[in-house]
This record gives sequence, C-alpha cells and structure tokens, in this order.
Amino acid sequence: MRLLTLMCALVTISVVCVAQDVPAPADNAMPKLEHFSPDQVDKSLDPCTDFFEYACRKWLKANPIPPDQAGWGTFNALTIWNVAAVRNTLEQASAPSASRTAVEQKVGDYYASCMDEATINKAGVAPVQPVLDRIAKLQDKSQLPELIAYIHQNIRPANLNFIDAQYQGVLFGIFAWPDFDNAKITLATLDQSGMNMPSREFYLKDDEKSKQIREKYLKHVARMLELSGEPAQQATAEAPAILRMETDLANAAMDIVARRDPKNQNNKMSLQQVQALTPSFDWSRYFGALPAPASPQYLVLAPEFFKGMEKLIASEPVDHLRAYLRYSSLHFLAPYLGQTILEENFDFYARTLFGSPQIQPRWRRCAGNADADMGEAVGQAYVKKYFPPENKERMLQMVKAIENALNQDIDAQSWMAPETKQKAHVKLAAQIDKIGYPDHWRDYSSLTIKRDDFLGNVERSSAFELNRRMAKFGKAVDRREWGMTPPTVNAYEDAQTNTINFPAGILQPPFFEAAQVDAVNYGGIGAVIGHEIIHGYDDQGRKFDAEGNLKDWWTPTDSAAYDKRDQCIQDEYTQDVPEAGVKQNGKLSAGEDTADNGGIHIAMAGLQNTLQAQGKTPDSPAEGGLTELQTFFLSYANVWCGELRPEAARTAVLTQGHSLNRYRVNNVVGNMDEFAHAFSCRAGQPMVHANACRVW
Ligand SMILES: [Zn+2]
Repeated sequence: MRLLTLMCALVTISVVCVAQDVPAPADNAMPKLEHFSPDQVDKSLDPCTDFFEYACRKWLKANPIPPDQAGWGTFNALTIWNVAAVRNTLEQASAPSASRTAVEQKVGDYYASCMDEATINKAGVAPVQPVLDRIAKLQDKSQLPELIAYIHQNIRPANLNFIDAQYQGVLFGIFAWPDFDNAKITLATLDQSGMNMPSREFYLKDDEKSKQIREKYLKHVARMLELSGEPAQQATAEAPAILRMETDLANAAMDIVARRDPKNQNNKMSLQQVQALTPSFDWSRYFGALPAPASPQYLVLAPEFFKGMEKLIASEPVDHLRAYLRYSSLHFLAPYLGQTILEENFDFYARTLFGSPQIQPRWRRCAGNADADMGEAVGQAYVKKYFPPENKERMLQMVKAIENALNQDIDAQSWMAPETKQKAHVKLAAQIDKIGYPDHWRDYSSLTIKRDDFLGNVERSSAFELNRRMAKFGKAVDRREWGMTPPTVNAYEDAQTNTINFPAGILQPPFFEAAQVDAVNYGGIGAVIGHEIIHGYDDQGRKFDAEGNLKDWWTPTDSAAYDKRDQCIQDEYTQDVPEAGVKQNGKLSAGEDTADNGGIHIAMAGLQNTLQAQGKTPDSPAEGGLTELQTFFLSYANVWCGELRPEAARTAVLTQGHSLNRYRVNNVVGNMDEFAHAFSCRAGQPMVHANACRVW
C-alpha cells in the first residue's frame, strides 16, 4: 500500500516561502498526533448517504491543507510527527560528543551538511559543475554508455521511496529484481524511465490541461538551463528538443495498465539479446563502466521502450542528447543546490504538478533526505526511542488473527475448487510477516560522509545504493531485506518474496494505539494488515505462488470466476473525479481496490473472532455510545480522512494505482452488508450498493 504522500524536496520562489523556512522550534516540540475519538463524527450528516463526509468533514474543516503540502489527512499528521521524531534523533547525532557511535556520527554529519543552508546557497549551482562538465565532454554518441553509467552512479532521483526509485533514472532505470520464474535468484533489471514528468500520460494526453502543463514545462526547462549558465537563446532553443525526446520515450514506454500484468514484464534476455535491442548503445561498456557484476540473465521489463531509446540515440544529434542529460541532471540534483535553482524546480514539480504553494521547512527536507539516503542508520535511533517491543508483540497477534480470518474466508468461498483453496492456504502459510525494522541493519561503513559537502554526500549515497543493488546480481534473494525505512508511514506486500512489511513509522495513531480498544486498532492498522495480505491474492498477487514464482496455481474455472468478481470492482471504481477533471481508471486501481475491499473484510473477521473470545458481539457497546462495529468502521474512515489539492488529485489519478480517499472509504463500505447493519442503512441509500462487489 503506497499511501499518497508527496515527497517533493523542492522549494518555492516567494519571500514568504523563505520566511516560512524557519529553524525547528527550540524545544523540539513534537507535532500533534491524531487519535481516534467517537466525537469526531458530524452528527448533522447521515452516515448512509456519504460515510466519508460523516466521518471526516469535521476533521477536514478543522485541518485545512497547510501551504507547504499538496494534500492533508490524518496520516500526513503522522508523517510530520515521524519527521520531527527523526529530526530529534538527527540533531542529537549531529552534536559532536564522545559517546556518539560511528554510525550516529555519519548520519549526524549528513544532517548537518544539509542544514547548512548559508553554505549551500552561497555555492549556488557550483557543486553540480563537475557533472555538467562531464556531460559537456560528450562529443560522440559512442561515449554515451560511460556517461550514462557515471550519471546513474551519481544521481539518484529526488526523495522517492524504493518503489518509485526503481522506475526513475536518467534515460532508463537499473535495479535488481528477483527472477520471475525463480524468485530465489536476483537478476540485473532494466526498465523504462527517462521522462522527467511523472508519467507518460503527461506527454501524450491532448486535453487542454495537459497542453498547458507542457507549455509550462517548456518554460521551466529553458529557465533551468539558463540558471545553470547557458545563454538564454540557447536554452530556449533546446527546451523543445528536450520535450520532443522525452515524448519519444513516452511513446515507446509501456502503458501503466499493461505494466500491471507481470507477464508483460517477464522478458529475460542474454546480454547479446539486450544488445540487439539497442545497436547504438553498447551495454558491455555501460556495465563495465559502472562497474556491474555479470548477471545470469537480464530482465528487460519493457523491451519496446529500449527499441524507442535506440531510435532516439540513433536519430538525435549529439548536442540534443547533451541538452537532455544536462536538464535531467539539473532536475534531479536541484533539491540539493542553492535557493534559486531549487525554487525553479519546486515551482514546476511541486506547484504546477501538485499545487503546493510553499516549500517545507528546511529541517523537514533534511530529515527526509537523511532517511532517504541512510534510512537504516536513521532508523536504529528512531526505533530505540519510539517503537517499544510490546507494540511489535501486539501487532504480531493482530497479524496472526487476520491471517486466520483469511484462511476461514478461503474455506468459505463457494467459487473456488478445493485444490485451489489448498494452494491458497499453502501460500499464506509460507508468507513472512515483517514488523517494525530489519533483524540486521544495513552496513554503511563503506559510505563516506563529509560534514561540509552536502551534494557530495547525496552523490556518494546514490553510488552506495546503486552498488548495493548491483552486488545482488546473480545472488540469492534475501527475503528478510526491507524496501522501506523504519520511520516510513506506509506498508507493502511483495509477491516475489511472499512477505508483508509494516515499518515502525505506521505503528502509531491513528493507525495503532496500545491504549485503544480492539475495534479501533482493527479498523485502523488491522485494515492495513488485511490490505497487504490480500495483495497476495489480488489480480497481480494471485499470479505468484507460495515460493514467489510467477506460476498459475488456479484452475481455469476458478480463474474465470475470479476475473468476473474483479470486473465488478473495476467497473465500480471507474468514475469521474470532478475536482481533478479526469476519470479514475478501475483497471489501473484494481489491485489496490481489491486489497481495500478484501482487507477490511478479513480485519473485521479478525475483530469478530477476538470479540467472541471476550464474550462480546459486533453490536456490543464499545465507547462513546458506539457499538463495536460502528467503532471499527469509523476508525477505518478516520485513517483516510484527507484531501488533495486539485492539481495533486489529477496527478495522483494519472500516475498511481490508489483510488482517492473518499472512494477508499465510500466504495468499500457500500459493498458491505455489515456496514449497512451497523448504521441501520436501508436499501436504496447511497452507501448500500444494489450490486455489491466482493472478491475476498
Ligand atoms: Zn496496496
């Protein structure tokens, strides 16, 4: 479940924004956490008409979107709380003391280098000059592999979490993924990328809004080139060539819906076969320059993209290639440079694409950068201070109760054959549940951090990360490795390692609170646990077996029955989003919507089993005049109380698989008889779907 968090570590252009950029409060006060309260509902509204409004309107009114955010909700409040917690540990680590451990000194120095805004502003774009000089030396296309290897080593995309980072890189992306057919082995993986706007739709859609965005993009690209020292005339001339090249890459890229089918991505090749895709780009020289160890095979997720890249390299003059690489590098490194270029980057990527008027305070961005670059060093201090062992114990109990509920749910399905049910049980039993933080912390000893060299620290961290990924080529997959850092407010399921993963960062209010009754925790983190478990059995996850291999374990009849149920959900979620001016695509969000719907069912069943053991029923009084079941549904809605600015909603609908919050609440409860029962809703009311959808 990738929640809708916006990680634009960028800046704005007004004086107001600079004034906003104040240091952390001296007392290091922690922001407010959002606790569940039965008083949060708006009793003037009818829960059966619009449950999201009933549960959230009061909160949304009291908590408008802050100027430095693209959206705001209860889980953003937790994100900000975690960033402040990370800041506290980093400030402690950055103060020189004899008792600091080596790893504390390293993250402390990283944070101090990022916080030194005066030095960073004074240097302006100068720190990026070595990269620009290297690009300027490209005289012949045959030198491209070494140059791209250098850029991939030094430039990691700005502040993206691990899933996004896999898909982002200059020209194309490189990372390490398990073999689809043998999930025990890691393969070198090449993917489409190279488009600087968030997705191919931004280049290809021809509605008015998309055209306006591209107009603004052209101006922004020219301005960035100018800020890096190019004459205005040259910058203005190069911008359209850059947009055209990125549009060519977008045309060659696989569509976001097609990418959801893992079969489309399972293209294993020898190095010779990869080479045949792109005669103009010498892969031996690229891998040699990184340098990367040999991989038994190469996984090419989108072969057509690389054919498009070949056309681009073969047809574009070398000065266009230089301009594209120059702009891309500036874009990725701008968040770590001086105010002027950082503001220009913010203006397009945060203000135009997400509607955020202001940049976040520097300490927040620096805490985020430290977490992105050295997350498992930052995480050690974080969990020591903020994640007590008893929370882990309580989580494990809930995970087991909800897994048990899925086992019961599988047995109860009338549409599954006994042999398919048996395989589903085997898969669930083989799943590893990871909670809080890794058993073994990542070793950062080979990473050099200097207290007075922020951009250098970012570049060396980028190389450290790329080398870490490349070292896995041809090696055994480590199912215990984490893809998110401990302070992250998020969770994920990984079908190829057959794991569910809950970072310590999400195990706080409003998701989880030890002092709350079970109904609150099952409606919050319980529904998240259910969501991640169900991902293993959604339209993507069900194609992977217990070992994490892409292998069909369904009978043809069961597969057809599954698809029919899935289609109901896809149709239900395909709808206009008036504020965003675009349509939600149920085919794109099918996996997430199935996980939301199935997840709440098994969380509710887990709660019911727990209540039964306590001699209670779902209708027993819980707190504040609510029944257990009412409390459960309100707690579920509470974690999704949140809204996006229209620009951010539009970008979200076009780029990612999660439905907007109001649909994550209303579509889900509208499919549930139990909800109608809990709030005495009648047939015909909006929250009682005549044609209720259900997979799990
Ligand atoms: Zn999800």
